[in-house]
Amino acid sequence: MDAKIVLLPGDGIGPEVVAEAEKVLNAIASTFGHSFDMPRFPMGGNAIDSHGDPLPDETLEACLASNAVLLGAVGGPKWDDPNAKTRPEAGLLRIRKEMKLFANLRPIRTYSALLASSPLRPEIVEGVDILFFRELTGGIYFGPSGRREGENGEEAFSEMVYSTSEVERIVRLAAAAAQNRKGKLTSVDKANVLEVSRLWRQTATKVVNEEFSDLKFDHVLVDAMAMHLISRPGDFDVVVTGNLFGDILTDEGSMITGSMGMLPSASIGSDGPGLYEPIHGSAPDIAGQGIANPLATILASAMLLRHSLNLEEEASLIEKAVDDVLAAGHRTKDLARGGASLSTTEMGAQVLAALNQA
Ligand code: NAD
Repeated sequence: MDAKIVLLPGDGIGPEVVAEAEKVLNAIASTFGHSFDMPRFPMGGNAIDSHGDPLPDETLEACLASNAVLLGAVGGPKWDDPNAKTRPEAGLLRIRKEMKLFANLRPIRTYSALLASSPLRPEIVEGVDILFFRELTGGIYFGPSGRREGENGEEAFSEMVYSTSEVERIVRLAAAAAQNRKGKLTSVDKANVLEVSRLWRQTATKVVNEEFSDLKFDHVLVDAMAMHLISRPGDFDVVVTGNLFGDILTDEGSMITGSMGMLPSASIGSDGPGLYEPIHGSAPDIAGQGIANPLATILASAMLLRHSLNLEEEASLIEKAVDDVLAAGHRTKDLARGGASLSTTEMGAQVLAALNQA
């Protein structure tokens, strides 16, 4: 396969972790006979410095013309001035909008070798493997909002709005993913209180009944889901929900694994390139020290191969290599709990070695 994968290393530890993922993608390309063209483009704080814009036109054009985009992280204290004309995060919001990325995928997977890192008991987190689909471009974050004079003085409002087509398209993506996993889909809403959730539930039910009747499908209220995620996370397979509920539940879920440096995410649309990144930020406190954990970005590159290039075997191979490296006891500083630790490049080299042995 010939593919163009745009690399947006970004700021802080972004370039350090993207460099390791790039090596892994090159290794996969040479093993399987693919050709990956991987140009780098500026984005975030570094792009503000060089172009006065966190998402320069040339970067956006390259992303739109690619098969997939791999992002490190953006931001840092240098660009934090609230009075600045623009900020790195503005580039992130814009790229998601321009690429029409309405679904955010977050796998929450525990690794047997890292069970002790979880704040939950090992018997609760052992074997957890959830794939969250969070709607990303609708709901309360994008509905009408403002301030007005009310009977008791100033008041503010933010409206949660979803159309049937917005619900249909994300439920379809989530349901299709569930068919390739354990065949179980859970839709999360607040249908006992919110009209918008009643439309969500009615639409999700219709899509699944008409197009995915082979799935085990259920609805869970968001407050109950917050409890289930902690008490019985192992019971879930694919979970689909709206923007606000997904924002909160995915952060709660990420703590189950106990380590930010391990978690990738993907943002995808109906067609066109997807955007893949680690969930962590640019970690300015450790940038330049060569100690960042590259595994989340390496796992994001596996998601890229699976969801944008349809290369399931290659994606699984990377995930297995990461499993093997952890099982062999290799740790970066964030995972080492005071024990011996590897540098960013040493950890990347261990993943490459594990790939070669597979
Ligand atoms: P952060 O995720 O960058 O860091 C939080 C803590 O986790 C830090 O102690 C950091 O050292 C550690 N950490 C994060 N990733 C790590 C890794 N791969 N290996 C080892 N340790 C790791 O969050 P923050 O400190 O709140 O934010 C720093 C900057 O990143 C801010 O400017 C923020 O706006 C930005 N940010 C960007 C994104 C993104 O690009 N998508 C996401 C979140 C935060």
